[in-house]
Amino acid sequence: MHDAHFHISDELFKDFQLYSLKGICNISSIEEYHKVQNYLKQYSFCTSIGIHPWKADSIDFKEMEPYLRKAQFIGEIGLDNTWCDVDTKIQMDVFEKQLKLANQLKKPVILHIKGMEKEALPLLKKYENCYVSHWYSCMDHLEEYDEVIDYFTIGPSVGKDEAVTRVAKKIDASKLLIESDGISAIEWATGSKEYIPTLFHSIQMIQAIKGKEIDFDLNFEQLLKRA
Ligand SMILES: [Zn+2]
Repeated sequence: MHDAHFHISDELFKDFQLYSLKGICNISSIEEYHKVQNYLKQYSFCTSIGIHPWKADSIDFKEMEPYLRKAQFIGEIGLDNTWCDVDTKIQMDVFEKQLKLANQLKKPVILHIKGMEKEALPLLKKYENCYVSHWYSCMDHLEEYDEVIDYFTIGPSVGKDEAVTRVAKKIDASKLLIESDGISAIEWATGSKEYIPTLFHSIQMIQAIKGKEIDFDLNFEQLLKRA
């Protein structure tokens, strides 16, 4: 089993090890980067580094650039006018700088787009990167996203949130991956902090929506080949 998008916590890594999971840990600051290096001595997982839209006005691109250059994946990066009030001009600027760098370095990009799906599209078309869309939860633009996005990680609200369920329904099974987004996101979406049962639930839910078995781990292996 895999968790294609998570954030560090002791709670999560206990089970991560126990169930021999594979996955991508998303890092959003230099401080967090150093914390994750300690976990990497003990556990095996992939890492992604990026300036999150929520931090676009507080983290300097130049300061993060050396870390972005070292990263396997660049992300989560994007645009968000729903869960933060960071100036969208600043968000756009930081987002584009990172997309450009990813393009130069040929690194896959993990996207966090919320409420600005339309505004992000021209940039995604301008920079032809390998894109992983994390927890897409917009009722619009899914067809346009399908054209530029290589993989969609499906959040724990699948089956409950109509827009997330729609992604599972409409997008080809070969492009679907499982994600928790970390323990606090699980708690936010489901009211419980159960890590492994949540991943299993997403797998079962998506397979029920599709009406067939899906080899999600094969999809994840394909993505890793691009990194
Ligand atoms: Zn995340």
